[in-house]
Formats: sequence, structure tokens, C-alpha cells
Amino acid sequence: MSVTLGYAEPLDDDFDKEHLPSKIGGKPRWLDPTRPLSVDKVQCDECTNPMVLLMQLYAPEDEPAEAFHRMLYVFICRNGVCHKASARRCMRVFRSQLPEDNSIYTAQESEAAGSCSDDEDDMSWSLAEQVRPASVCVVCGLSGSKACSKCHAQFYCSRAHQVADWDAGHRAQCGNTHPQMSKSAVYSRKLQHMMYPELVIVSEEEDASKLEASNADYDDDDDEGSDDDGEDNEGIKPEDMALVPVTGEKVEDSEVDVDRAFLLFQRRIQKNPDQVIL
Ligand SMILES: [Zn+2]
Ligand SMILES: [Zn+2]
Ligand SMILES: [Zn+2]
Repeated sequence: MSVTLGYAEPLDDDFDKEHLPSKIGGKPRWLDPTRPLSVDKVQCDECTNPMVLLMQLYAPEDEPAEAFHRMLYVFICRNGVCHKASARRCMRVFRSQLPEDNSIYTAQESEAAGSCSDDEDDMSWSLAEQVRPASVCVVCGLSGSKACSKCHAQFYCSRAHQVADWDAGHRAQCGNTHPQMSKSAVYSRKLQHMMYPELVIVSEEEDASKLEASNADYDDDDDEGSDDDGEDNEGIKPEDMALVPVTGEKVEDSEVDVDRAFLLFQRRIQKNPDQVIL
């Protein structure tokens, strides 16, 4: 089975022009910029502060047709105390998708592609001319439904981020005619630090030669000759696995399968320890 590996790398100069990036940190880039997510959807259940973007993944699908463009967003609370209380209450994942026929994007063949290519991978997408992106929070990029009451030129998702921006530097620049222009380097850096550092996720096919040496150890498909699962698996027994079913009900088999799949997944990614996502 061929697997795609993702590596986190520094941004290059063209990254700002990328509408459909896979990336870690920074502010979200919305698949549909006219409808950014609102803050009430990503409030931490523990501390009630807005969560911030951990990563977004561009993961288009051929089927179903409405997922022609598909973006996954992972939000997380930056307050470590919340994670100790309950990881589930301070993380959230969203999926956003668009069919090929939509009013947001127009396709262009990217410059690198040859003239005879009509491969989707060689297409680049730009916003259609009539698209007017909605206002977003200057701090976190969520829907900016509130504006600074003095200058009405800066938008926020929440009171918390208005206060944070005021302290970071808006206090000094509020009321300037071109507030975006006058942001000092220190102010910009303070805003950046409220998000996770931004890195692009670059994906590539797994290097098959790295697998060959030990593939037979855990490849499910070629052990038909052996009598059962597990024992040719370098001594890993079901009870050593990370998640053990707590009851003996019907679901047990499928849960063991999930454990096994996860274990195989872990072993596989260990061969490429730098990569961040499969
Ligand atoms: Zn929290
Ligand atoms: Zn915000
Ligand atoms: Zn202002």
C-alpha cells in the first residue's frame, strides 16, 4: 500500500498566494472566505476562550462530488490547564467542502504544468472575482463579527481578542487612517505569537525502499499461512495494545481490529519520524 507522508516545512515566498494550503498554525485560510467559522463554534468548553488553529489539511476527494474541494480544520485551546482537565473539551475538528461547480474558485493551469497536462494536481485555484471575503478577527482569523468601537476599522471574534489586540499594539494605532499599514514589527510579532507558528505541510509518497527490510513483520496481507493474528508480530499480544475493550460484547472484535490497525499505523510512521500526518 502506498502512503502519503506529510512534512512540516518553513513557508516560502509564494505561500501568501495559496488559497488551499495544508499547514500548521497561523490563522485559518477558509475554503469559503465568505463564511468564516464563528467563535461560538470553537470556544473551549473548559476556559471559554477562543481556541486557535492547530492545523488545516486540504484533502479533496473524487467521491462524493460535493467534496471536490475539502478542507479539514483542527482547533485547540492554548491553555495547557484545559488539556489536563479534558482533552476532548478543548479540541475540535471541522470539515468544509465545495463541489467542483462553485462560485468561489476558478481553476487555472499552474505555470509549472506542461501544456498537454490536464491533471488536477497541476491546477491552481484562485478566488473568483466577485468573492468578497468576510471580515475576520485580526488576532485569530475567525469570523470578525465585532469591530473596534473607536475606529471601526479593526475586527474581532470576541471581547477577549479585542483586549489582546489592544494590548498588543492597537492602542497606539487606533484611529490612524490606514491602521493596517502602520502596524509596527513588534505589534505584528505579538499578534503572531497568539497563534501557533505557521509551517506549510508538504506531502510526498512514502519511500518504498525504506519499508522492504521489515515489511513482512506487520503486513496483514501476506500471513495467510499462519494460523492466527498477532504471533508473528514481534511478540505483540492484544493485551499489550494501547486500547483494550472493557466489555466482552459484540463490538470487541472490531475494537481489537482498531487497536491493531493503530499499532500498525504507529509502526509504519516510526520509519519516517519527521513526518506530521498521513
Ligand atoms: Zn481552554
Ligand atoms: Zn479572534
Ligand atoms: Zn480601533
